[in-house]
Amino acid sequence: MLTLKDCIVLHGKDLRPYQCHQFTVEQDTITHIDLGSPCNQLEQGSLVIIPGLYNSHTHMGDSCLPDGTTGMTLEEGFFRPNGYKYRELGKQTEAEHLEHLVAHLRYMARTGTVGHIDFREQGVYGSQLLRQAADKTGVNSVILGQFNQLPFTESQLQENRDGLSDSALAELDALLTIADGFSESTMNDLTDLAWQQIYLRSQHKLRAIHCLENEGYRDTSLAVTGRGDLERALELYQPHLVIHATVANAAEIGMLSAHRVNVVLNPRANANLGLPLPPIAPLLQSQANLLLGTDNGLLNSPNMLAELDFTYKVAKSQFGSAALRPDPVDILKMATSNLHGVLGQDIYGYLEVGLPADFAVLNFRQPHLRATRHILASIVSRTTPDDVLATVRQGQVLYQDPTFALAA
Ligand SMILES: [Zn+2]
Repeated sequence: MLTLKDCIVLHGKDLRPYQCHQFTVEQDTITHIDLGSPCNQLEQGSLVIIPGLYNSHTHMGDSCLPDGTTGMTLEEGFFRPNGYKYRELGKQTEAEHLEHLVAHLRYMARTGTVGHIDFREQGVYGSQLLRQAADKTGVNSVILGQFNQLPFTESQLQENRDGLSDSALAELDALLTIADGFSESTMNDLTDLAWQQIYLRSQHKLRAIHCLENEGYRDTSLAVTGRGDLERALELYQPHLVIHATVANAAEIGMLSAHRVNVVLNPRANANLGLPLPPIAPLLQSQANLLLGTDNGLLNSPNMLAELDFTYKVAKSQFGSAALRPDPVDILKMATSNLHGVLGQDIYGYLEVGLPADFAVLNFRQPHLRATRHILASIVSRTTPDDVLATVRQGQVLYQDPTFALAA
């Protein structure tokens, strides 16, 4: 049993802060939340319990190469077959690579994150390696595999006629056995027929795709098929997650809204590549369901606290007003309760009695937080990894500050 007394808890799907006399976990479940009054500011500090964060876009595989693509374009750094990422990943031994993965999953837990959706390279081997790392740390790795090698030549892609070969289909089936789903880098990496084949074979699995990261994604797709990459993705592949939407125009935002697509943004990674910032403000006003991620380890630390801060500030700038637009709670939801129902697992992203005990404890007794006049704004924009005292997933302590004890 874990117990916290006299703290603040963000309660329910709306993440409203309340005084909490007692918060109790038995085994993997929240069994008791004794709520007091709503409370959005502090005088003398408090512990603050938030839902455990979810990072909805990672490539933990290249976290072994921090800042390795500094000075490179997206194409030079990340595209197959010869981008820096793929050349360097091929050089890692299994033992070295596993050690890096485990260390970075532990770092995520140390920053309040209980789970992530990973876009794992290196085919079946890559997905298996991440599964091993997740098992060692208790972090929930939702793994989306991709083909080890691109299954089509450039001329086959230009003709856009062939389907996947028998060996590629066999690799796909093997991937879907070990991974939670499928993703490829871009729609332009496969033919239309291949996307339809993948859709049919992945009915009970998650499907995701990177779209509109830069103008080239749309332009290439238009040149080959007459349709943009987002339009093709929605028509042929029906993805559960669309990643990036960095250069989405008004028509494309309309498509994302009409289909209520789960859109994963990662503005720090876009900025780090010198790309435009995603249209966060228009998307917040649409019917799309927004999630947040940190993208490649090569580009960013997998620290969602930093991503929340950056996203909030960019969104405020895009709204162009100091008014409460966006409300900071709508940014925090992108890493918590907006996950509910998306992954089809026991993931709620919010805290109520009877739900899984997935939470982090923040130290709002620290000098820079203890007199906050807006708890949610301070969580989103001032909290650093040093302020995380504990991270718990399904009742299991993934990280605990050595100076802090969750009462047993
Ligand atoms: Zn990605």
